[in-house]
Amino acid sequence: MKVGKNKVVTLTYTLRFDDNEGEIIQQVNEERPFVHLFGNGTLLPTFEANLDGLEAEGNFSFGLTPKDGYGDFTDDAIIELDKSIFEKDGKVDEELVKIGNMITMQDQEGRPIDGRVMEIKDDKVIMDFNHPLAGKDLHFSGKVLEIREALEEELSHGHVHGEGGHHH
Ligand SMILES: [Zn+2]
Repeated sequence: MKVGKNKVVTLTYTLRFDDNEGEIIQQVNEERPFVHLFGNGTLLPTFEANLDGLEAEGNFSFGLTPKDGYGDFTDDAIIELDKSIFEKDGKVDEELVKIGNMITMQDQEGRPIDGRVMEIKDDKVIMDFNHPLAGKDLHFSGKVLEIREALEEELSHGHVHGEGGHHH
């Protein structure tokens, strides 16, 4: 069986900056591998394209430019917000609104979006909504451990059930 659309793929990976000798950002090992319903649109398309067609035990190693990864860093994603929106009972939650803190907000369509507090002014908070990996060259390497057909139920839910997946 090969990696492809509607297959459940179990894999390990190491994500680094720059290239295969770059600083490690994230490592997923065989003890707690990543289990993914291939082709469900939640992964970077370039990530899936590089795994497509691999068999179990197959290795992968590829670089991602910001264009194929998390986009370029843009000043448009740095936004000044009224401090009052962080108020609870008339008081700004200072544990939450701290420089460097990640806060989950909602975009205009109501989807969750994470922003990092950059600067706090008297009545404004400046937040950076760029993805933390925006503007970075990235490198993925890893190994496919297992491939199986997705179950009907998994396909209709759009995610994996069981080990490494959703339990409900
Ligand atoms: Zn489900």
